[in-house]
Parts: sequence; structure tokens; C-alpha cells
Amino acid sequence: MIRNDEAARAEAADDFGHLVHRTPDVVLRPTSNQDVAAAIRRAAGQGRRFAAQGRRHSVFGRGQVDGGIVADMAGMRAVHDVGDDRVTVGAGATWREVLAATLPFGRFPPAVPDYLDLSVGGTLAVGGVGARISAFGAQTDNVVELQVVTGNGQEVTCSPNRRADLFDAVRAGLGQVAVVTTATLTLVPAPRQVRRLLLFYPDLPTMLHDQRLLVADGRFDAVQGAVLPAPDGGWTFRLDAVVGCATSPPSDAALLDGLSADRSLTQSSTSTHLEHLARLDALEQALRAHGMWDLPHPWLMTFVGDSAVESVVSAELDRLTPADLGQFGQVSLSAFRSRKITSPLLRLPTDDVCHAVNLVRIPTTDATAEAARLVAANRAAYDRVRAAGGTLYPVSALAMSPDDWRAHFGPVFAQLAAAKRRYDPGHVLTPGYEVFGT
Ligand SMILES: Cc1cc2nc3c(=O)[nH]c(=O)nc-3n(C[C@H](O)[C@H](O)[C@H](O)COP(=O)(O)OP(=O)(O)OC[C@H]3O[C@@H](n4cnc5c(N)ncnc54)[C@H](O)[C@@H]3O)c2cc1C
Repeated sequence: MIRNDEAARAEAADDFGHLVHRTPDVVLRPTSNQDVAAAIRRAAGQGRRFAAQGRRHSVFGRGQVDGGIVADMAGMRAVHDVGDDRVTVGAGATWREVLAATLPFGRFPPAVPDYLDLSVGGTLAVGGVGARISAFGAQTDNVVELQVVTGNGQEVTCSPNRRADLFDAVRAGLGQVAVVTTATLTLVPAPRQVRRLLLFYPDLPTMLHDQRLLVADGRFDAVQGAVLPAPDGGWTFRLDAVVGCATSPPSDAALLDGLSADRSLTQSSTSTHLEHLARLDALEQALRAHGMWDLPHPWLMTFVGDSAVESVVSAELDRLTPADLGQFGQVSLSAFRSRKITSPLLRLPTDDVCHAVNLVRIPTTDATAEAARLVAANRAAYDRVRAAGGTLYPVSALAMSPDDWRAHFGPVFAQLAAAKRRYDPGHVLTPGYEVFGT
């Protein structure tokens, strides 16, 4: 299907961030690899740029194309061939759709993101991180094989053993060398239910102490931290820890052994695995109910090494005002073992333990000046994180110049640039990141 009406073009010029708007000339909805290849060749032949769009949850126009061609990947969302250890899916499928197909077989993709309404292709373009990152790495570390269409318009299958240079440049490669059309993803056995503990701490150092301990001993399947605005103007420090179980859950006493969490505040519950995986649905509903889901989302996502995390996060908390995060916002702060990440283009600090440190800003206004202020604040915070050895998770709301990206990719930039020269020499694909210029 081809659309160039104003409504379709306006939709493709917006995303979850509502911060950047670039209007394409044409919006396509491909249903096959051949459709994608023909569209990319057409864009190249006309001297236009091309980008795939999954669920448009980018927050800074990364899937947009000024005057070019956009492919809405929702037409390629079938989930095929659920096996014991793998599943093959169309890149436009959401993670919720992948789970709906695999959980009935008692299997799930272990690196599933925390928010389920993202497309597989959209998260493979950036890395894709979720609660089980410490045990399984990122989504790009759990891919068996990819079918892609390169910027040359070639349909290619790649994997660790077949066109490995392309496979490594596509995973977390910001859509610079190819569009993913089909992905074969790793599956693991799914627990039937999970025991969830919410643990509360008086301060950041105490919470970090337990995070390090839990990363080292692995007693939980997933541990995610959050620093939340407290009603008294201070902060609430909270860990959300879950462990899967087949029948009866382990005792809370055993799970809490040796931890410094305040026992009087600890909350525990048991839920089905799917209820747990879909836990952010409640937040989405709350934000929609308060009219905040459709406001600008100037989020900043970074990775900070363990050696710097306490000083970096303390300094950011000192700087943040209530308006910087909003009542529903938070600083999320989750520790993981960096050796589990093997995708070359997903850049991390050099520490053995790293922390995903995210400023999840939920403003209460759509005022342009306020959004611009927060984007500028993101840039300043990113510069501080980088000075402390940290890296960007490139789903963030801030402008990055080609020099910034070169510094970001560091030693692997040459690998990405070589793949760009080989697979997208005309610079047709995904201009929204501005990795190789606009
Ligand atoms: C509410 C919310 C929750 C989030 N939660 C998480 C989370 O839990 N974990 C996490 O890791 N990230 C999370 N993110 C970030 C998210 O992973 C990225 O923004 C992701 O790129 C969005 O996926 P999408 O399907 O909406 O892609 P889009 O916004 O449509 O596209 C994002 C980028 O990917 C490219 N792209 C899309 N499809 C393809 C394809 N098939 N082949 C090649 N490139 C493609 C686009 O061109 C664009 O550059 C979240 C974002 C939001 C807004």
C-alpha cells in the first residue's frame, strides 16, 4: 500500500517524543522482503532517503525522513515457527505479539523489553534492553539469524556464521546499513509465575550496595532500581526484584537474606509471568488517564560504569527539580553484568558491572520552550555521563552530531563505517540519527 495523503505523512512525521517532525513524501506499508527491496531501490534511484518505522516509539525523530520514503513495518508482523529454542518473526511484530505466540508453548524471548508495544525491528536497531539483561544480555545478543534488505536494495540472510560483518553492523547499528525484515530470536523456557519483591532503601548508597550484591549472587531473575520523586520533595529509593518459579515460590526470608532493604516497607506478591511482563501497562493507563501519554517525552537513557555510578547519580539527583522529571517520572537505575552484552555496536563503559541510568521525564505540559529546556538538559547530563566514562543508549532525546557518534562508537566506528560503505554507499537509510551527516 502506498500513501502520500497529508494524514499518513503527518503520522509518519511524529513519534512518541513529539519533539522532532520531518515529513516524508510517501508512506508505504510493505508486506514482503521484495516490497522493502523495491522501495529502497526506488528511493535510491530517486535520490531520496528511506527509513523503516516500527511502532514510532523513538523520542527524537530517528525513524523520520524529510521528503523521503517511510516504510511502516506493521504489514510484516507475522510470528512463524515457534520452536523449542527459537522463533521466526516479521520485524514489524511487537514484543507483545511475540509473547502471545510463544508463551502458550512455555517459551519466551529472554531479553524481551520492559515495554511490550515496541517492534522487534525497532529494538534490534538500538540494542533492546529488558529486566533480564544481567542473565541474558540485550535483544541483539539473542538473535539467531536476520533477513535484511541492505541500502543497495539487496535481500540478504545474515547470522554469526553467514555474512557476519553485516549481522554485526545491523544489530544495534541504528538502521544504518540495512532494514530488518525477519528475525529469528532465541527462546528459553518460561516460568509459570513470578514472585515479586519491592524493596525500599533510605538512600542511594544502600540501594547500590544491594544491587551489587544481587548482581553477584543472581538470586533473582531480574532486579530493576528506581529513584522516584517522594511526596515530601525528597526521593524514594526502590528495587523491583523478581524470581520465576514453576510451582510454589521460594520463601521471602531466603530471598531477603543479607539484604539491607527496610523490612518494614517490603512488599511482595505473586503473579503470572505474563502479568509481570506486561507490568508497564498500568503506567501507560495512568499516563493516558492523566493526559500525559501524548505530551513530549524528552527522555535520556545512558549506561554508567559501577565505579562512577554513585557520584554521577548523586550529582544528577542534586540537580533535578520536580519539573525536570514530573510527578510520574523517575530516574531508573539498574545494574547488570556487562560481559553478557556481546553485540559490538552496543556501547558500554569498561566496568564489569554497569548501570542503565535513565532520566524518564514525564512533563505535564506540551510547551515548546519547556521541551527545549529538557532536551538541552539532556545534552548537559549526557556530557557529564560521558566525562565519567559513561555511554549513551541511543534512544535518547538529544541531537548528536556525526562527531558525537564517532566518539560514541569509538573503536567500532571503523567497522560501522566500513559496513556503510559496503551496504549503503548511497547513504539512503535511516537519516534520523545523523550518524553519517544529514
Ligand atoms: C514507552 C517506551 C518504552 C520503552 N521501553 C524500552 C525498553 O524496555 N527497552 C528498550 O531497550 N528500549 C525501550 N524503549 C526505547 C525503544 O526501544 C526504541 O525507541 C525503539 O527504537 C523503538 O522501537 P519502535 O518499534 O517504536 O521503532 P521506531 O520508533 O518506529 O523506530 C526506531 C528506529 O529504529 C529503526 N527501525 C525500525 N524498524 C526497523 C527495522 N525493521 N529495521 C531497521 N531499522 C528499523 C527506525 O528507522 C528508527 O531509526 C522504550 C521507548 C518508549 C517510548
